[in-house]
Amino acid sequence: MTEAKGLIDILGEDKVLIDEPMKNHTSFRVGGNADIMIQPSTVEELKEALSYIVKNNIPYYIMGNGSNLIVGDKGFRGVIIKLFSRMCHIEVSGEFMDIKAGALMTVIATKALENSLQGFEFASGIPGTFGGAVCMNAGAYGGEIKDILVSVNVLTKEGEIKTIDVKDLDLSYRHSIIPENDYIVLSGRIKLKKGDYESIKNEMSRLSAQRREKQPLNYPSAGSTFKRPEGYFAGKLITDAGLKGYNCNGAEVSEKHAGFVINKGDATAKDILNVIKHCQDTVYEKFGVRLETEVKMIGEF
Ligand SMILES: Cc1cc2nc3c(=O)[nH]c(=O)nc-3n(C[C@H](O)[C@H](O)[C@H](O)COP(=O)(O)OP(=O)(O)OC[C@H]3O[C@@H](n4cnc5c(N)ncnc54)[C@H](O)[C@@H]3O)c2cc1C
Repeated sequence: MTEAKGLIDILGEDKVLIDEPMKNHTSFRVGGNADIMIQPSTVEELKEALSYIVKNNIPYYIMGNGSNLIVGDKGFRGVIIKLFSRMCHIEVSGEFMDIKAGALMTVIATKALENSLQGFEFASGIPGTFGGAVCMNAGAYGGEIKDILVSVNVLTKEGEIKTIDVKDLDLSYRHSIIPENDYIVLSGRIKLKKGDYESIKNEMSRLSAQRREKQPLNYPSAGSTFKRPEGYFAGKLITDAGLKGYNCNGAEVSEKHAGFVINKGDATAKDILNVIKHCQDTVYEKFGVRLETEVKMIGEF
């Protein structure tokens, strides 16, 4: 494959995977093969690889930890650029943290705790990367990335590196301008507050216990499958529509939290998609509310 050869010339063999099963890279544990996956470890490598991909008109998709992603069973034709787990350095200076896009939110939370920095507790259980969290304006327990973010550095499709202030990212509920501009988040700066180590630790433990109690964490999923429709809760609508436990070959509406579709065993991406569509259709029929997916879907199903 000439595309792979070109990327190997840029990145070296160890950073280019060919025919890579995406089920090994997504939290749902489904998905066919990506033609090529690259895992650059520096901005320069990423820039050079992106320039090659764009110049050769190769389709590509950027991913972090795949915790909000379903890849179709027939896979992805093109290049997946995976930033976890190579570009993940974190630097603390006073109340600021400078974070590379591939750093996991759980690792950032640990670093914040070690430095008695308060304000990241809400995000400590989100199983994605910093880049994914910025792109999605991830949030939980009343907090959102936009509350702590100062600025991000992005790589444009044209190969330019730009610093964007948080106010120019249009961060709102699970939305940013990152995907519509084809920006790749390289790194960013957050601002926290000096706090008390024990209280930060207790708050993280409390939220983690709440997650374990309320969410079906023992099954593969992508977290909340649907966005919260204005004025409603997706899980409540799905429960009221009688869909708890609805199952299609192992893809199931969780009994524990109806906002989660889970993979109970050997479900395929198509099975998960069928459950998602069934929930959307039934909720619309019964309550006239359209459920929009929070989870991103790519590739051929
Ligand atoms: C058990 C569980 C619990 C969860 N709980 C929460 C929660 O409480 N709150 C919440 O908001 N989410 C939650 N999620 C969903 C998910 O973890 C978040 O959306 C997370 O921010 C996704 O990060 P990721 O690195 O895995 O991104 P991916 O799934 O890899 O990608 C998600 C999107 O971000 C884009 N993206 C990723 N990295 C970059 C980058 N560097 N530059 C540009 N675009 C990028 C991708 O193109 C894609 O559009 C949960 C998921 C699971 C499995």
